[in-house]
Amino acid sequence: MTTSPEGSIKAGLEVHRQLDTKQKLFCACPTSLAELEPERRFLRRLRPTQSELGQVDRAALFEFSRGKSIDYEYDHQTACLVECDEEPPGNLCKEAIEVCLTAAILFNARPVDEIHVMRKIVIDGSNTTGFQRTCVIAMNGAMEIDGKTIPIDQISLEEDAARKTTQTRDVTGYRTDRLGIPLIEVTTAPVLQTPTEVEKVALAIGNILKTTLKVKRGLGSVRQDLNISIPNGAIVEIKGVQKLELLAKAVKLEADRQGTLLEVREELKKRGVGPNDLIRNYVELTDLFNETKARVVKDALSHNGVVLCAKLPKFAGLVGKELVPGLRFGTEISSYAIFSAGVGGIFHSDELPGYGITQLEVEKTKTNLNLGPTDAFVLVADEYGRAKEALDAVIDRAVDAISTVPEETRNALPDGTSKFIRPRPSAARMYPETDVPPTTVTDELLHFLASNLPEKPEVTISRLLEKYSLNQKLAKQLLDSDYLQLFETIVASSPNVQPSFVATFLTETSKSLEREGVPVDVVSDEQIHDMFKFVNDGVIAKETLPELLKWQTKNPQGTMMEAIKSLGLRMLSERELDDIIERHVSKNKKLVQEKGTASFASIMGSVMAEVRGSADPKLVTKRVKARLSEDYHSG
Ligand SMILES: [Zn+2]
Repeated sequence: MTTSPEGSIKAGLEVHRQLDTKQKLFCACPTSLAELEPERRFLRRLRPTQSELGQVDRAALFEFSRGKSIDYEYDHQTACLVECDEEPPGNLCKEAIEVCLTAAILFNARPVDEIHVMRKIVIDGSNTTGFQRTCVIAMNGAMEIDGKTIPIDQISLEEDAARKTTQTRDVTGYRTDRLGIPLIEVTTAPVLQTPTEVEKVALAIGNILKTTLKVKRGLGSVRQDLNISIPNGAIVEIKGVQKLELLAKAVKLEADRQGTLLEVREELKKRGVGPNDLIRNYVELTDLFNETKARVVKDALSHNGVVLCAKLPKFAGLVGKELVPGLRFGTEISSYAIFSAGVGGIFHSDELPGYGITQLEVEKTKTNLNLGPTDAFVLVADEYGRAKEALDAVIDRAVDAISTVPEETRNALPDGTSKFIRPRPSAARMYPETDVPPTTVTDELLHFLASNLPEKPEVTISRLLEKYSLNQKLAKQLLDSDYLQLFETIVASSPNVQPSFVATFLTETSKSLEREGVPVDVVSDEQIHDMFKFVNDGVIAKETLPELLKWQTKNPQGTMMEAIKSLGLRMLSERELDDIIERHVSKNKKLVQEKGTASFASIMGSVMAEVRGSADPKLVTKRVKARLSEDYHSG
């Protein structure tokens, strides 16, 4: 594995963020997700025409040709006939346009005179129409990060896709609630040079968008796409990085992946492999596997499948080479075969014996293919035509390995790694949306927005320092988090709670809970607000908040009263507290008699050990002091 030197990376960033507008982009439905079970389902089968598609995801086409269908789940509170594609879209949501134009002004971009809605082909079923609607709002902006100018190429407004809920062999399920929620998309030029810089720019873009107070928070509300290349590498798109913290890792891993592919290329050159050595002369070894224990192969053979093998001369050891931890070159080769032929069973010699394929079967395969010690093979079990097509793709990918890193589109995975989805499309496949008239951007509107710009991040910071006496670090953390608005709401309605405590809870505490695996994102603003109301009213101690938050993630619909009951949380009354203090004082009678008020620390310590979480430490201090001085005076 190589580590690409810092600065040799060229990366561009696309930040997508859901807008928190009152309605969706093309209809009056709300922009919140469904909480109830769907009322109705409808099945669709998408039939894209070849002319619309250009270079398509052939794997997706195979799914359709296999009779795969899409099951849409619908309820009338979160969707209407527009989402079902049974009624044409309405005009663009004005509020969404205004948020995007405000962002355009903040990024010093030039707004378009007229907003034209375009259709972008999408055939995975995530849009009921078979395309996604998108429009350019502004171009040629820029922002400053650490003294460097980062060009903002484009700001667009798009409709979000439906939300995938289920995936079985034959049916993919989507919920229509998310379909049509406005998304703003901010695209930088490919000028970012290090993983850290990518993360910084993404954070800064996010912070500027947040100043509009019109973006959503929580998992799924932010998605970042990357394009990355290294010298002699290729432009690779990584789609859908959900967490900001994963961006730097994703960039580094992709640069490393390309670096290792270049190493594979060098090694193949050294071994003297040329494109003409890779021959499309496949050998059928179905008989050899008639008695196999390998489940995937057995399955294929029982469905009229064959076992077809291709030789990869002098590729031994390289097919199994790790490009980055957890991703082998062989997996990449297989992905290409799966993409172009939709095959299920594909294996390479560096991973065999394995998957039920025995050492003996491997030896026999090698003999039949006439393999030398440095040669590798790929084996496919599927219907003949498909198996052949899969091996053609394997040979194509192997030929590429000798000369280049292929341009491709990959999906970001939750651990920062990525997975091949398709070769990189040459150009966006777009055509005009005739159902939505263009929207003129008037000078009056632009002037109005320019004179009503939101508070700048640096102004927000000084306000946080002054108004709430937060320290610089906490103020910055709050600004970088998604909780600034919630913080101000809570502080305004909870005068008994220290602002710095609220800020710490919303930033450091929630981050550390997240690191423990608590899905903090699923708890709504209203629920967190409620928790603080109960703390403010003295019903529960602020120390119990982490426990409450955990409980809420497991009981998303649960109320505060249910939480308090189920966790056994309740504040002690002053009398109950006094009783406990009395017990501790009499247990330490001697100490109290000898030392009087000087025994405070030790009594306080033992009382707190018992009542932590069910009494306010300030109140405990007051009552313990009162009790001790009482003894002192009477003694
Ligand atoms: Zn609707």
